Amino acid sequence: MNDTVHTDISKLLGMLQATEKKYDTEKITLAYEYAKELHQGQFRASGEPYISHPIAVAEIVAGLELDTDSICAALLHDAVEDCAEKTSLKEIEKQFGAPVAMLVDGLTKIVTLQVEDKEEAHIETLRKMLLAMSRDIRVIFIKLCDRLHNMRTLAAKPDPKRRMTALETMHVYAPLAHRLGMQRIKLELENLSLQFLDPIGYEEVRQHINDKYGENQNFLEKIQAEVGGRMSENEIHYTLEGRIKSVYSIYKKMYNQNKSFDQIYDFYALRIIVETELECYTALGLIHEMYNSIPGRFKDYISTPKPNMYRSLHTTVIGRDGIPFEVQIRTWDMHHIAEYGVAAHWKYKSGASSKEELDKRLEWIARLIETEDEQRDPDEFMNALKTDIFHDEVFVFTPKGDVFALPNGSNVIDFAYAVHSKVGERMIGGKINGMIVPIDRTLKNGEIVEILTSSSSKGPSRDWLNIVKTSAARSKIRAWFKKEKRSENIVVGKSVVEGEIKKYRKNSTEAQREEIITTISAHYGFNSPDDFYNAIGYGGLMLSKFAKRLQNECERVIKPEVEPTPAPEAIPVPITTKPKNIKSDSGIVVDGEMGCMVKFAKCCNPLPGDSVIGFVTKGFGISIHKLDCPNVIQGRKNTENATRWKEAHWEGAVESGRSNSIYEALLQIYVDDRIGMLADITAALADMRVSILQINVTPRTDSAYVINMKVGCRNIDHYNSIVSRLRGLQGVDNILRGFS
Ligand code: MN
Repeated sequence: MNDTVHTDISKLLGMLQATEKKYDTEKITLAYEYAKELHQGQFRASGEPYISHPIAVAEIVAGLELDTDSICAALLHDAVEDCAEKTSLKEIEKQFGAPVAMLVDGLTKIVTLQVEDKEEAHIETLRKMLLAMSRDIRVIFIKLCDRLHNMRTLAAKPDPKRRMTALETMHVYAPLAHRLGMQRIKLELENLSLQFLDPIGYEEVRQHINDKYGENQNFLEKIQAEVGGRMSENEIHYTLEGRIKSVYSIYKKMYNQNKSFDQIYDFYALRIIVETELECYTALGLIHEMYNSIPGRFKDYISTPKPNMYRSLHTTVIGRDGIPFEVQIRTWDMHHIAEYGVAAHWKYKSGASSKEELDKRLEWIARLIETEDEQRDPDEFMNALKTDIFHDEVFVFTPKGDVFALPNGSNVIDFAYAVHSKVGERMIGGKINGMIVPIDRTLKNGEIVEILTSSSSKGPSRDWLNIVKTSAARSKIRAWFKKEKRSENIVVGKSVVEGEIKKYRKNSTEAQREEIITTISAHYGFNSPDDFYNAIGYGGLMLSKFAKRLQNECERVIKPEVEPTPAPEAIPVPITTKPKNIKSDSGIVVDGEMGCMVKFAKCCNPLPGDSVIGFVTKGFGISIHKLDCPNVIQGRKNTENATRWKEAHWEGAVESGRSNSIYEALLQIYVDDRIGMLADITAALADMRVSILQINVTPRTDSAYVINMKVGCRNIDHYNSIVSRLRGLQGVDNILRGFS
């Protein structure tokens, strides 16, 4: 990606000449010379002359084939801000005309707020961009090109600045590029940001891709030859592109959807570009004839385009070697829109005749501009658009017009607490758009929410703990109960516990119950049973957390009334049962703190008992690696990231395996080809009550196999005991601790 640094525009002019468009190269050359003069003596963080940056941005803009004014504005985009003593917007208008000055003005106004890590700052930046966009969408295209070049050269910046920029790119610029359908820029922005936000994770996935691709190097070529042959037989004019998914898209699936590398079906993708819409469907039919399709993965975005105008047919099929791959089928027109989105309009159409078509295609932007023309409240449309971009948030207003962004699914109570805890505590009802509504009513975008309060309100209700969506509201409600209602909490807590005891033992004496409760409350660190009840009452300690222990205590203290029936025969554990407690609570203490958002690195799959270390991946939680993981050893050599490594260890109960938490462990079992081998292994695991989460058999030679298996495991001792049992089976050559 690293285009060579240069301070002249011969490459730019060459690019423009290669297009079919007419550019005013004289004007562009003048803009370049003026910018060069203004930036004289200024240097980038990398040490290069500053002018190399506007030139690089102009080249990216030229790649989108925007017009002459856009290219001039790209060349001048930093001039007014950085060279205020030498020039002004007025001067630029005089020399290059009002449209260029207007674009430069728009670009100058989008300044990043210097607030670390604040969602607010991101929304504010976005607000400014949307404002600029409503005046002229070219401003956003140029801004995205500017950011793309800054990201490509971000390594030269000092670290805090670097991470802030990467985070902003991930949260503001990439989603915006996505919303505008500019797939190419979006993918590059995401990959570049990830490299700075989670360099280790990035490297991990990249390495996986290399390994996997190395294994099946010819796969895509073979598929292309097969598909191409069939297309030709059917006289379809086609172009094929074989590709591998981007690092970030695979990273997202692995970490956000917690999939293993093998579960990613669309690692390989084949794109078929044809001439007509009809040919798209014909090609799809041929593909489905040639390969088995995976059910539920066919999508027709031609008849139902995505909101960002994307159109294509998608399907996932299985190749002859059993490797799945995704197929995207589209026409050239659809392809241009997919790659360049809204910008495709400038690239592939020109002249006033396409104005109508633009309006049709870019309806939402047209609507936006229209809204401004009609002098409606500008905030209203911006919020509507913001919502489009941040899909997972809902934006609502107070009657005074203040905006609140809440997670999707939030309701009136969440809103009340977001305004202020006092508002939540005194709430007696709510209105949406002027109508009284139930307080658990889910909020929708753009609604005006009014909270009715009364100073005589008795405070929140306990039910609200189960109704609210945001953790902020929940913790505020808990805090209130903790503070205000101790005696009531104790009554509630006590009845919960006694009800639970009754579930296990119908009859019990006061003394027995006291013994049970004293033991348990001491176990959880409470000074008295009342404190224990209080915590249950205000919601600080959930029943689910201590139910199992309570049951054990009941069984220990209170003898059963009837003889228990003999234990049933051991039932083999079915494959793919998810252990109940998997990752509900990580069991990891990072820097002395519990309950951090952690994820377990897929490169080394740490188990309780392994020495571990945490790596702060801004925005993606803390990733936990084994201390001796090669990625850690490599990663720690980079002194710049030194402060991002955090001491981490397992919670005592997890480490010793006393807790019921189950972790994923990977076994790589090298076996001989013998009848019943797999059955013996699964039987041994069932006998040990080990859940098999995933199983995968690959031939190694004619007479040997590798079984890759994911099992549920309590800790490293448990793991070792599983391994030694399996090693004892006839035909097992070796067992390695595998990685996904
Ligand atoms: Mn710039």
